[in-house]
Amino acid sequence: MAKYNTLLYYCYSTIANAEQFAADHLKFCKSLGLTGRIIVAEEGLNGTVSGTAEACRTYMDTLHADTRFAGIDFKVDEVDEPSFVKMHCRYKSEIVHSGLRDPKVINPQKQTGKHLEPAEFLAMKDRDDVVVLDVRSNYEHNLGKFKNALTLDIENFRDFPAMINELAQYKDKKILTYCTGGIKCEKASALLLHEGFTDVYQLHGGIIKYGKEAGGEDFEGKCYVFDNRLSVDVNSVNPVVISTCLNCGKTTPKMINCANPECNEHFTQCDDCGTAMDGCCSDACKAHPRKRVYDGTGYYVKVPQPVNVAKKGKMQLAE
Ligand SMILES: [Zn+2]
Ligand SMILES: [Zn+2]
Repeated sequence: MAKYNTLLYYCYSTIANAEQFAADHLKFCKSLGLTGRIIVAEEGLNGTVSGTAEACRTYMDTLHADTRFAGIDFKVDEVDEPSFVKMHCRYKSEIVHSGLRDPKVINPQKQTGKHLEPAEFLAMKDRDDVVVLDVRSNYEHNLGKFKNALTLDIENFRDFPAMINELAQYKDKKILTYCTGGIKCEKASALLLHEGFTDVYQLHGGIIKYGKEAGGEDFEGKCYVFDNRLSVDVNSVNPVVISTCLNCGKTTPKMINCANPECNEHFTQCDDCGTAMDGCCSDACKAHPRKRVYDGTGYYVKVPQPVNVAKKGKMQLAE
């Protein structure tokens, strides 16, 4: 039985004194022994945290008891060990960096694409008048995406607004956007509506919730996630592998970090090339003097032991 949970969530909700909120919230998370990353902005919260099932339950209950966050839809994964090493809670100007900072122009609390639950998305996605749009970045959709989805050649979500012109040819279609957990779609679909698209929908809860509630049907490959796991399985109905080894081109679902800590690139590599390359992305990285020992997993982050009171005191002193 899994001892730990990893939670993924976001919430667009106005937070006054967001900087102070971030500082207080960090203390609260540490008091529960959670690890993870949370971004706080005036427009809301975006987080992924990991801890004991009990700590996660307390965390969710506490947020739900706050009227600003009562509607948060937490995606809960059972994990064997915490998915993060440290706890970060930071104030930023946006909860997902889009470069669309003016809330008067793009404000998902006021206008955003219609939310589709996983079953509704599944029923609609193959219709002739529908375009399924992946709003994530290259390294994400290269590892996995919906069958027949339109993908964008972008390195970062902040490049999304510049791609709108390329999408203009689909203005008369229904646009169904999706991302990992739903947060990017709130802004991407809001922007599409602002730019004159009229029939815009978004997959509520993203790929993660779709995997849990619709079996991940027609999601090809794996879903990139922003924690130590690197990727998670989505499709239990008709899974296929679409990613290829960076070095030899063979099909492989295995995502690793480059063993050169100064590179640390996330990429897919087959087991044979992993052995031949010592888990490195290139010959230059393989020759790097600080190269880490490749143990076949491609993970290099040490996972802390379950937090007890004595340890917690020590960890806080160390920071
Ligand atoms: Zn290979
Ligand atoms: Zn490298």
